[in-house]
Amino acid sequence: MQVYEEAETVGSTWYWNRYPGARCDSEAYIYCFTWDKQLLQEWEWSERYPEQPEILRYLEHVAKRHDLRSNIQFNTRVIGAEFDAVTNLWKVQTDKGEEVTACYVIAAVGPLSYANTPQLNGLEKFNGRFYHTSRFPHAGVDFTNKRVAVVGTGATAVQVVPEIARSATQLTVFQRTANYCVPARNGKVDPDLVKARKADYDGIIKRIRESRGGFEHWPIRKSALQATPEEREREFDRMWDTGGFAFWAGNYQDILISQKANDLCADYIKRKIRERVKDPIVAEKLIPKDHPYGTKRQPLETNYYETFNKDNVLLVDASTDGAIEEITEEGIRAGGKEYEFDIIVFATGFDALTGPLKALNLKGRDGQRLDQAWADGPHTYLGLSIAGFPNLFTITGPQSPSVLSNVPVSIEQHVEWITDCIDNMRKTGKAIIEAAQQAQDEWVARVNQIVNMTLMPRANSWYMGANIADKPRAFLAYLDPLGVGGYRKRCDEVAAKGYSGFTLA
Ligand SMILES: Cc1cc2nc3c(=O)[nH]c(=O)nc-3n(C[C@H](O)[C@H](O)[C@H](O)COP(=O)(O)OP(=O)(O)OC[C@H]3O[C@@H](n4cnc5c(N)ncnc54)[C@H](O)[C@@H]3O)c2cc1C
Repeated sequence: MQVYEEAETVGSTWYWNRYPGARCDSEAYIYCFTWDKQLLQEWEWSERYPEQPEILRYLEHVAKRHDLRSNIQFNTRVIGAEFDAVTNLWKVQTDKGEEVTACYVIAAVGPLSYANTPQLNGLEKFNGRFYHTSRFPHAGVDFTNKRVAVVGTGATAVQVVPEIARSATQLTVFQRTANYCVPARNGKVDPDLVKARKADYDGIIKRIRESRGGFEHWPIRKSALQATPEEREREFDRMWDTGGFAFWAGNYQDILISQKANDLCADYIKRKIRERVKDPIVAEKLIPKDHPYGTKRQPLETNYYETFNKDNVLLVDASTDGAIEEITEEGIRAGGKEYEFDIIVFATGFDALTGPLKALNLKGRDGQRLDQAWADGPHTYLGLSIAGFPNLFTITGPQSPSVLSNVPVSIEQHVEWITDCIDNMRKTGKAIIEAAQQAQDEWVARVNQIVNMTLMPRANSWYMGANIADKPRAFLAYLDPLGVGGYRKRCDEVAAKGYSGFTLA
């Protein structure tokens, strides 16, 4: 086995994303590997949601403990891979000029790894410095006495804005659309709870694997519309006070299906924003108007809303103040007005899920290119495999639960499934496994049919590919009605039936 990694060392997401305030927002006790039971007992997280350096330290420790580096060639980008139907092998090219052959290619390129810096006119003219949050300098950036712009208001911006506001002379946040942010409620975890969790890790692993979203949150088995106003308020308060993904993953079962139920939930958050932001005009700008609650990636916040009460923080909202028109030598022009900056931080996210896979320049049977096969959005079978691309697997790729879950749970499920599959191929003397076109078409139809029964398509979200110019509008993940547990069961059934839906040769 040979692993290629573009970065100079391990860590991936936690190697690249070094912006101030970068931290996980899955709780650390489940944002980790579950296959090293001893490490689950030994490792002590400092907080509920540790910061990037601590997660990176954990990943470096795992790599060392299991001697993983010896199989990884760092500083090497895969720039192409082509399937040879004569030899049944993939030819893989790297940016170091190497070409190697492989029976299998496993694309573990990450769902959120392909940075999206918007193509703004004039960026090359800017006299100051600019950074994308996922490519921050290792030495950090000193914002003291600087006029800083943050472009974007997604999950990353919600983490970075309060941090930069602490030291910058002036921070201006450019918002295209407001988001529903809920409190993270970070802090030290009660040592008794840590102990109880360590004693029950087997139970935790079973529960998160069978859950909806890979968390220990379960939806309230009731319509929000059936609850009395008092009961609803109590439940919303409970989830709000719990913090984290409780509000998203543990809410009433119909909030992503019924607009009326969703409105009740959205109204609760809008009230909270109005309570926390002093200037009513700024509060209204921070209140989402264009999408239902929960249909965009849930940002978790710590003092995000209060940051807009500070004298050194300004919000420039595209719909009320005018959208960004261009980057100038001195800063950003928006709504006909020029704002001057020393530093621009692009918290503009990623070309999610399909971006890093297309960048692999994959060619399957008959020279078929992945970007052509996916011209109108992703087409996969189970979010694991692609018709016409034999012996290629994707981990947390498009049309799998991926970013709709606590991702490590989904990563482990895919890794286990693929490992078992390859093992089975060896044992049964098979050389080729390939998704059948019909099974793939049925899967794509299923993915779209389910999501179209929800409110998700109503948002211009990165889940829908809407953050990237010219990206086809298509739902990028898979929303199983029974969550990651239901999806796991389905994948296991496919394997148990001799890999139904695949052609084996
Ligand atoms: C700031 C941030 C916070 C997040 N927080 C959470 C969270 O709290 N909970 C959660 O569940 N998820 C979170 N995520 C999602 C995160 O992507 C996953 O949790 C997880 O890290 C994915 O792991 P991965 O190994 O699949 O992908 P990645 O961590 O993205 O790793 C992919 C690796 O592939 C490499 N690569 C890509 N293309 C190539 C190529 N062509 N050649 C060679 N190497 C290549 C990249 O350099 C990268 O190191 C977060 C993402 C970000 C960006």
